[in-house]
Amino acid sequence: MRRIETKCVQNGYTPKNGEPRVVPIYQSTTFKYDSCDYMGKLFDLEADGYFYTRLANPTVGCVEEKISSLEGGVGALMTSSGQAATLLAVTNICTAGQHVVCSAAVYGGSLNLLGVTLKKFGIETTFVDPDASLEELQKAIRPETRVVIGETISNPSLEVLDIEKFATLAHNNKIPLIVDNTFATPILCRPIDFGADIVIHSTSKYMDGHAVSLGGVIIDSGNFDWEASGLFDELTTPDESYHGIIYTKKFGKQAYITKARAQLMRDMGAAPSPQNAFLLNLGLETLHLRMRAHSDNALKVATFLANDKRVSWVNYPGLPDSKYKDLVKKYLPNGTSGVVSFGVKGGREAAIKTLDSLRLAAIVTHVADARTCALHPASTTHRQLTDEQLLEGGIGADLIRLSVGIENAADIIEDLDAALGNI
Ligand SMILES: *Cc1c(COP(=O)(O)O)cnc(C)c1O
Repeated sequence: MRRIETKCVQNGYTPKNGEPRVVPIYQSTTFKYDSCDYMGKLFDLEADGYFYTRLANPTVGCVEEKISSLEGGVGALMTSSGQAATLLAVTNICTAGQHVVCSAAVYGGSLNLLGVTLKKFGIETTFVDPDASLEELQKAIRPETRVVIGETISNPSLEVLDIEKFATLAHNNKIPLIVDNTFATPILCRPIDFGADIVIHSTSKYMDGHAVSLGGVIIDSGNFDWEASGLFDELTTPDESYHGIIYTKKFGKQAYITKARAQLMRDMGAAPSPQNAFLLNLGLETLHLRMRAHSDNALKVATFLANDKRVSWVNYPGLPDSKYKDLVKKYLPNGTSGVVSFGVKGGREAAIKTLDSLRLAAIVTHVADARTCALHPASTTHRQLTDEQLLEGGIGADLIRLSVGIENAADIIEDLDAALGNI
């Protein structure tokens, strides 16, 4: 069994004699066959192969296989963005009239998707405090609840999920746990090892790592027993849109991920481009090196900020006094990723002054690429909110979100030191 560093570099593509060493970009929407009969078998999911890039493409397939091996899954489906991954992962097992329980500490896009848009489609979500006890969390479950969702390290609030607690909650109720592992990546945490059934990512962040391509991915652990649960008719009874295929009967452990591709990707069409899959693969080849560098640098930067008199507070799960110290030891022993948030004395004005004075770190809405970048939500992404509304959302007017890159940490700290000196 290969170690994870080797999988980052090598898995997913093994060229035969004389073939290209690097996975080629199959920039073709369609594929040619010699007989109608063979193509018919592909359409019936009887044979393996490609017919249309919305459903499968060789370049994309190689990257899916690599990511599945990194997370320890039985299969993966790449999507055009992280949002599309969340959408397909949920709607694959949840339809109108059913219900979702989701940690309140998740990405803003997930909050909107679940709380606003899917609600309009008849899927309701209850958001729960991820730090609540199992007994408290159980109160959110209804007979029609079909999935529990959490985020390993939440963007942007940096809360660490007790994955085993959430897995227990889900499994006690015969439903699966989906974990968004975007910030941790499989280098720092593999949620399937702790009971997650499905893992999702925005690959636009650390996996790509260079801010060049949007993407998302869903990984199926193969561990959830849909038949034993009895709650998932769509997986265990005939799919009329596929000549009555029963996914659990025909695909066993790969039932969930096959349905997501054959039914939802077919119908919703949020497919990735082969070019973007190629770029993502380049990022994945160095993911193991970059995640350690991001984590090491972020800890140094957070430590500098925590000791600076111009800074009023620092939130980084890797700091020794973090309230998540025990969870970090269990789930993130090799580092806590690259995002740090902090507040400056002097509130909104001082935060803006600090950001505008940065020279190395750039002001961008993105996080999680090789270059250090910073954001002041109160004056940009959240500028329509009042100071009171900001505080309610856990985002003070003084909050700066810093995505620490893989430059030399001393240069990042010098830049921050000089900017803070301008307040
Ligand atoms: C960015 C992000 C998403 C959404 O991904 P996109 O690729 O921007 O669509 C989902 N979850 C998390 C945790 C994210 O950080």
